[in-house]
Amino acid sequence: MGGMRRERTLRVPLRFKGKGIHTGEKSTIILHPEERGTGVRFFKEGVFIPAHYDFVVNTNHSTDLGKEGVVIKTVEHLLGVLHLLEVTNLTVEVIGGEIPILDGSGSELYRAIREELAEQDGEIDYFVVDGVVEIRNGRSFIRACPSETLEITYEGEFDNFLGKRRFTFHKGRDEEIVYARTFCFDWEIEHIRKAGLGRGGSLENTLVLGKDGVYNPEGMRWEDEPVRHKVFDIVGDLYLLGKPVRGRFFSFRGGHALNYRLVRELGRKKGVRLTALGSEEKV
Ligand code: UDP
Ligand code: ZN
Ligand code: ZN
Repeated sequence: MGGMRRERTLRVPLRFKGKGIHTGEKSTIILHPEERGTGVRFFKEGVFIPAHYDFVVNTNHSTDLGKEGVVIKTVEHLLGVLHLLEVTNLTVEVIGGEIPILDGSGSELYRAIREELAEQDGEIDYFVVDGVVEIRNGRSFIRACPSETLEITYEGEFDNFLGKRRFTFHKGRDEEIVYARTFCFDWEIEHIRKAGLGRGGSLENTLVLGKDGVYNPEGMRWEDEPVRHKVFDIVGDLYLLGKPVRGRFFSFRGGHALNYRLVRELGRKKGVRLTALGSEEKV
């Protein structure tokens, strides 16, 4: 067991401002410290939305949460940072439609939040994967297995110079994934824009990949930056289980839609136990 870990919040409120990658609009988020037992939740226009898979309203090119008609787009990178830093109690006030994309990675959020962490009385209650669950969509799949700590492997297979790539994250090696940026392929930009998405996307916040190379003048931060980012997305989506997670995950060509289906299935199984007769019972 990786030792006892204390619950965490922030010492002070933190504010971030920037453009939404999909809406293209400026938004502000304010992270407010919270008491033990609050959990991680969002607050917008008078509505509290828990960072929980029950409130997912979209998984197409981002993970969006909603409740009572209030929607917050693109929560996955902020949730990835909070999951890595094991921030368990926080209210994220959102002024605008989307979490700012910043540089496309978790970099700015991670560095600022890490400086202001405040430990709380009480140990973290982990979501422990206690069986094997696999979700498929065609050739793509994501699988969860029991493990003492969080470990995530992503294997991508790309129709360009990247080819086949695999990256494994081990709990604690945050800097290997948190600085990896969002990416897209030049051949999918038109389709994304026609769907009304990607309005705030640019080379400032997105790695744009072509058949033979990248458009960004600064190049990639690692030669496998896109697969590292895919792992980071999984860290964020997994936090929708409502607790830091212990388990081993393997994704082949997965994305937010598969991540969400896996999380839902893991959550559903936890809330159900087999009775003596073998039928399922809600607990
Ligand atoms: N993709 C790919 N190989 C992979 C994973 C993804 O070619 O191993 C492509 C996928 O077909 C899509 C793009 O990458 O064009 C973004 O993937 P996806 O929509 O799954 O990501 P999400 O929007 O969920 O982050
Ligand atoms: Zn996408
Ligand atoms: Zn992402």
